Amino acid sequence: MAHITEASLRAMLGRGRGLPDPFPVRAGDKLTPAAADFLKQRNIVLTRSDRGNLADRALIPVGVSNRHVHLAPRHVEALFGEGYELKPLRELSQRGQYAAQETVAIVGPKGNIPGVRILGPARGETQVEISRTDSYRLGVQTPVRLSGDIRGTPGITLIGSAGTVVLSEGLIVARNHLHLSPEDAKRLQVGQGDRLMLRTNGDRPVIFAGVVARIDPRFTLDFHIDTDEANSSFLSNGDSVTLIGANGKLSDSVKEELS
Ligand SMILES: [Zn+2]
Repeated sequence: MAHITEASLRAMLGRGRGLPDPFPVRAGDKLTPAAADFLKQRNIVLTRSDRGNLADRALIPVGVSNRHVHLAPRHVEALFGEGYELKPLRELSQRGQYAAQETVAIVGPKGNIPGVRILGPARGETQVEISRTDSYRLGVQTPVRLSGDIRGTPGITLIGSAGTVVLSEGLIVARNHLHLSPEDAKRLQVGQGDRLMLRTNGDRPVIFAGVVARIDPRFTLDFHIDTDEANSSFLSNGDSVTLIGANGKLSDSVKEELS
């Protein structure tokens, strides 16, 4: 709740950034008659904004990824039989991607995880994405990596209905990232590879720092996190987070909110 006076408006002008037009007013804000006149004289209109004007512009949907496996074509055959093709079970948020009907067991030195979903279509190198909690269960120290960057990562064993594959590398905890179309990127003023700051809006406020921006015409706006991250920040599929900054700098409008 803010008490907006002519003096506070003059102070905002004095800080050199000008006044926003439209000027956001939240539920509970008090605007003095002199302040209203001050805005009117400058042809600035008022706008109702209940969670801050930034939140309206920069809400981003959350997608929680459970542990899963991407398979190279040769490993599809090794696990399920010669000439085998994955069968789609359901579409994922990113175009062309699907959860397959097939699952594998992941086997580590300390434990196994059965029924791990395969995501299709089959692609270049096999990659197994698990949470840190899973890594304790398997007994393998697993690094955080961006999807596709598997060089030097630990191996793991996969068991399918027709065979076993012993991987020499490919086990990762996926680095969280934001998928954007070029249009989303333009609207949110985000560049390829930017390190973004995203804030949750729930009962346990968390700021994710260093979220990697991935821009591609095939992408749909979606913040991808794993189940450990979702559980610790009380996020579920379909929730939203707010973009509050990039590359180590908070957005100006967030700084104003905090000051
Ligand atoms: Zn993703």
